[in-house]
Amino acid sequence: MRTFADVAGDDAASTRHRVLAAVRDHGPISRAELARRTGLAASTITTATQGLAVEGVLHETEDAGESVSRTGPRGRGLSVDPALASVAGVDFGFRTVRVVVCDLHARALATRESRLAERYSSEEGLSVAAELYRAAVAELSAGQGAVVTVGVALPGPIDAVRRRVIGSSVLPGWSEVTAGRLADTFGVDTVVENDANLAALGEHVFGAGRDVADSLTVKFHSGIGAGLIVRDRLVGSAGSGEIGHFAVAADGPVCRCGKRGCLDTFAAIPALLEAVAGGAATPDVRSLLASTAAGDARASRIVSDAAELVGDAASRACLLFAPQRVIVVGAMAEAGDVVLEPFARALRRGLIPDTPSAPEIVRGELAERSTVMGAVALALTASGWLPVAS
Ligand SMILES: [Zn+2]
Repeated sequence: MRTFADVAGDDAASTRHRVLAAVRDHGPISRAELARRTGLAASTITTATQGLAVEGVLHETEDAGESVSRTGPRGRGLSVDPALASVAGVDFGFRTVRVVVCDLHARALATRESRLAERYSSEEGLSVAAELYRAAVAELSAGQGAVVTVGVALPGPIDAVRRRVIGSSVLPGWSEVTAGRLADTFGVDTVVENDANLAALGEHVFGAGRDVADSLTVKFHSGIGAGLIVRDRLVGSAGSGEIGHFAVAADGPVCRCGKRGCLDTFAAIPALLEAVAGGAATPDVRSLLASTAAGDARASRIVSDAAELVGDAASRACLLFAPQRVIVVGAMAEAGDVVLEPFARALRRGLIPDTPSAPEIVRGELAERSTVMGAVALALTASGWLPVAS
């Protein structure tokens, strides 16, 4: 296993550790810049980087785009060899499991995906995920380092302290699944986090939020959730960002959570599909998106009314922490303007008029991959290969 600590050593004051941390955080980086950032003598840098290159830990790159650093300088220079180790992201959706194995520069090396029955059990989900994961790992080339950490996204509240899924009506068969059980499934160190939080992290590190420090990512999907990035950090704990359970109608239907009138019961995908079906056979989300794309008036109205409700809920979150950008992700974000326009209108209406800090409102850049790439970012962070904002 090659975590950052395995390679750099435990002594953060050592030359090796300082050089490697600076390359990880700012690479591709020149030797001169490395000397400036670490405060080490040029001759010390030359010796240390030569040794690390011989070991295969560092290599010269031409392309700054390879960097996992969000803010690193551009140009030719030293970077960590991306083949040193691998990480994986696993996204357990409501009906799909998605696995991606990446190198240390977060480039996808192998991906797998499988459909499951709705409300699948943890046994079923874990066994399918383990199979997909093994198949993806088998695809890695001989020179690529083994997976060091797996990041897992689950659509429910996660107790980060005790590292377990909290008993939840959202994931009925998953209550008390622990990080340890997940680690047994994949055979390596595993970290787990809520899916909307990881969608936010994915867009922050690799997507539409990478150039701002404060963003709100709204996942408009089978459930509605939000992830908060504050000063470059994912914040929150079990049950945070659950805007799908904001009450929007005192006399609305009872939600799966047990409350009445939650946003999810009006605007999440299952509610939209039911409304569109109107008692007939329930369509799937693809046919709903096809209907709105074709300009079907009824489907478009149902979707845009739901988007307004979600935008209004997002405005309340914005009033609390004034993000620079609001990023909409999830299957409904793929509907485009029929969702984004009413969402933005309702969000702006919910803010204080003429507020100078009104956020930009954009669609996620990673499409259906935002959550799984957030799981990759989580795995890179946990294994020490992605720096955490200080
Ligand atoms: Zn609810």
